[in-house]
Amino acid sequence: MFENQTRRGFIQSFARNTVLSILGLLGGFLLLRKRDDASVHTCINEFICHGCGVFNKCILPQAVSAKKSMKLNSPQIDKHDS
Ligand code: SF4
Repeated sequence: MFENQTRRGFIQSFARNTVLSILGLLGGFLLLRKRDDASVHTCINEFICHGCGVFNKCILPQAVSAKKSMKLNSPQIDKHDS
């Protein structure tokens, strides 16, 4: 009788701890997951994109515009010249 209760208690506590662990991991994952939506991003450098540490990965409109401008103003390498 006592052995059955101990086994049952162990299984119940194991199941409870497993469920709580999974819920904790899921909650942590949902809090820390990377969001690619530009609406949730915030500028970290007062929209001064030149020299910003996250410029290459930034998806804010100012950074996208700056990247387009840089691409348009960069010298074109003509493959036929070499
Ligand atoms: S690159 Fe992005 S975070 Fe950096 S200044 Fe520009 S808009 Fe802001």
